[in-house]
Amino acid sequence: MKPLEKKHPLEVLIRTERMPHIFCSGCGIGTVLTSFVEALLESELNLDKVAVCSGIGCSSRVPGYLKLDGFHTTHGRSVAFATGLKLSNPELTVFIFAGDGDLVAIGGNHLIHAARRNIDMKVICINNFNYGMTGGQSGPTTPLTARTTTSMYGTFEEPFNLVHLMWACGAVYVARWTAAHPHYIKRSISEALERPGFCFIEVITPCPTNWGRRNKMRTGIDMTKFFLERTVVKVNPEPTEAGIDMKNPIVCGVFVDKERPDFIEALKEQVGKKVKVYEFRGDGKAEPPEVPLKISPKPLFKKKLKDIYRVKIAGLGGQGMGLLGLIIGRAATVFDGNEALYSQEYGPEARGGASSAAIIISEKKVDVPYFAKPDVLIIMAQAAFRKYKKFLHPGSILIVDSELVKVTDIPEGVKVYKLPATRMAEKLGRSIVANIVILGFFTAITDIISLKAAKEALKISVPKGTEEFNLKAFENGYDYGKGIKKEGE
Ligand code: SF4
Repeated sequence: MKPLEKKHPLEVLIRTERMPHIFCSGCGIGTVLTSFVEALLESELNLDKVAVCSGIGCSSRVPGYLKLDGFHTTHGRSVAFATGLKLSNPELTVFIFAGDGDLVAIGGNHLIHAARRNIDMKVICINNFNYGMTGGQSGPTTPLTARTTTSMYGTFEEPFNLVHLMWACGAVYVARWTAAHPHYIKRSISEALERPGFCFIEVITPCPTNWGRRNKMRTGIDMTKFFLERTVVKVNPEPTEAGIDMKNPIVCGVFVDKERPDFIEALKEQVGKKVKVYEFRGDGKAEPPEVPLKISPKPLFKKKLKDIYRVKIAGLGGQGMGLLGLIIGRAATVFDGNEALYSQEYGPEARGGASSAAIIISEKKVDVPYFAKPDVLIIMAQAAFRKYKKFLHPGSILIVDSELVKVTDIPEGVKVYKLPATRMAEKLGRSIVANIVILGFFTAITDIISLKAAKEALKISVPKGTEEFNLKAFENGYDYGKGIKKEGE
């Protein structure tokens, strides 16, 4: 008779080839993993559209055991990563498996803001009251008086009440269970799948290796008994009741179950009425907005472009690099009718630190906001030149303020254009408009944006009452650029 083939009951979603797993005997993470897989198998989800993210810690190893798309990211950053994943590919169902320390201490800021914004993700927080993977240190959820490797006389810091915190941040679904309640965990995961928005399920799990043995519970069974004796399951309990200490009952149940528009819905509703809000589909393409536009900004002109152009502008904080980039972007899109993506980078200081802006301009939609090699590099500080000159390449254009930047060691074939923008601005009476002088020069030299569009974009971007002065600065730069171009012809 053929011997019976031994199969893991959940092998359809568990990577059995990775067994044995790394979890200690008696650890509760496996229970949560099983409940998760069962909930998923009972759901009608397309499992090819499910992603599981994690940070660092014992529970963060979970995605590695699943036959699903998984992302084991950096410490505390699972929520930030999942936010990007969900916003760039809204059709995904995104889960997070995270330990209490990773999620609430290292990644606490990401957590509260994702809940506040109501990003549609399902967070499963494995709360074992300590940093298990690193040896059992006290963490943000260690109950008062509990012993850990870093609190041998008992923890004296007040822990977070995670349920209350998530309620206060606006999560639409908040539940708490322990590993002794696998059926409820599964049910909560199924319920969370039905709630668009930020859902938070806290599961208190045994960590006999590091937390239990320091608190007179040496095995997983001891800890499970503790949970069964100490927990009270309530119907519609109050988040304020959910604090945990070493004496009082641990209240479990579904604390929050409500509806409010998630981030993408709110964005479409609020902003989509004013401007086009495209949805990235994750395949490099973008869906046009569903919400009918109340205002449909029609470009004043239609400028033909030969190519896609990547423009990098760099200088120091206070030189108006960001504004310069913004005006170029507005000219290209609002007035010239092309597509553009604009991003900005700051140093830690508001003024005097590094500052740069990047714009990609094209006749077609621009999907990716980053580039390494600019077609045009505008530089207004020596430190910025040192930083970005390595990205210059034959055929690229370099525009510099000749009195602030000494050009050295650049590849052959780079077209260099110099103008004393700051001195020209000073002559006009205000050095602050050096960026506008550069704008005029850029318009004349590159022909990426039209003259009319540049002027119109300038007028709507500078403070009211300064339009004429700024236009004068622009024309100075434009004429200078036209002169240089003529000389070169
Ligand atoms: S250290 Fe604790 S949390 Fe980590 S695997 Fe072991 S029992 Fe589980």
